[in-house]
Amino acid sequence: MPIKKALRFGAVGLPVVALLAAPLSATAMVSAAPNESVEAPHTPHGGSSSQDMAGPFYSPETAPKAPMTRSTDQWPAPAKFITALKKYGISGSKLVLEKNYDKQGPENNANLAGYTGKMQAFMFHDTGTSVPASRLQQKHSLNWIMNGVKSSAGNTVRACHFYVDRKGIVHVVYLGRTWHAGGGVSMWNGAVPKNQMNAYSMGVEIESQGGGVWDLTSAQVDSAARVGAAAMEVANLPLSRAINHKTYAGREADPGRDSNTNVQGKVDTVQSAAWWRSKVKAIYNGSGTSSTPTSTAKPAVAAKLPTSKSISMRDMRNAVRSESVRRYQVGIRKYLNKKLKVSGKTLRKWNPSGVTGYYGAETRRLTRMAVLRIGKTRTSKARSWMNLYLARKANYPTKALIKRTGYTPVA
Ligand SMILES: [Zn+2]
Repeated sequence: MPIKKALRFGAVGLPVVALLAAPLSATAMVSAAPNESVEAPHTPHGGSSSQDMAGPFYSPETAPKAPMTRSTDQWPAPAKFITALKKYGISGSKLVLEKNYDKQGPENNANLAGYTGKMQAFMFHDTGTSVPASRLQQKHSLNWIMNGVKSSAGNTVRACHFYVDRKGIVHVVYLGRTWHAGGGVSMWNGAVPKNQMNAYSMGVEIESQGGGVWDLTSAQVDSAARVGAAAMEVANLPLSRAINHKTYAGREADPGRDSNTNVQGKVDTVQSAAWWRSKVKAIYNGSGTSSTPTSTAKPAVAAKLPTSKSISMRDMRNAVRSESVRRYQVGIRKYLNKKLKVSGKTLRKWNPSGVTGYYGAETRRLTRMAVLRIGKTRTSKARSWMNLYLARKANYPTKALIKRTGYTPVA
């Protein structure tokens, strides 16, 4: 069990022994390879585990009370989705049907509370691969989506319904119910009960770097919107039922965690749900999604920066793009390298995009790593586990950390 999981679940009733065990392993692993141990591995969806995908229904796995046969199920038949995809322009070389996309095996491998219900929503996901867009392979995450998620019994559960690769080609992964949404809030007056989105929705994964970095191509946006339009028409859903992951999961914040970063441990699509709805609407209107994708990053706070060394503390938050963020990135990278002896190679691993002026997953990671390293050098080994625990939440710098980088914090 990775420390991330141990600590997260500790708050909700993990045996004390696990909490005691976690600090020891964390301390040992930090010395060896800090980013591999404290951070989730670079799997799609920001390192989502099978448990993350399942939500609270990961274990114990329960077989459906009644066999899920197409004749009694309220879920639309696979053929209807394929017909609708073609109607909305996903056909020919733009459409790949993955093996067993229409079989019920993967569905029955998953523990799905509420599995007798109707489809109520369509969810847009980014794969959050954490590899810079320039180095993403065309189908970077497809193998993980097809084979990477396992039920508690070890059976493969497909990680989404549709997948859009870097060229905008749509792969039909699975057309029954499956794990993609994990835990989250009750929506639409209980039409989707708390934590049961997997049984009531479909999702498209769009290959991307993730972490709040805008990198989708026009072809990807267009294909994803067409997939959404097709699936929602088959299920007879209004536009309001098009959501992104944080619409459902982002409001269930762990104590001490930023709700923006709590979508199964990551920020989801840069675009808002409203933005995706506008794209789906354009498909329904027949006008296409030709507009160039634009970032929906929060505008920078217009803080006065008195000197070239000033950093606005108000900009030190997720999804802000500003000069203060750029300065902080320059400062924290230099500080990690020169003062904390983090090699250039390791820095590139943590922050492959370099200085961008955008506060996303990579900048949060740089901040956590600096806090971890500072804690390690200043405290005795006996106390370091508590510092490690605290540092995991240190996504944004304190004034003290800003000062260490040689910059001056301002309001
Ligand atoms: Zn997602």
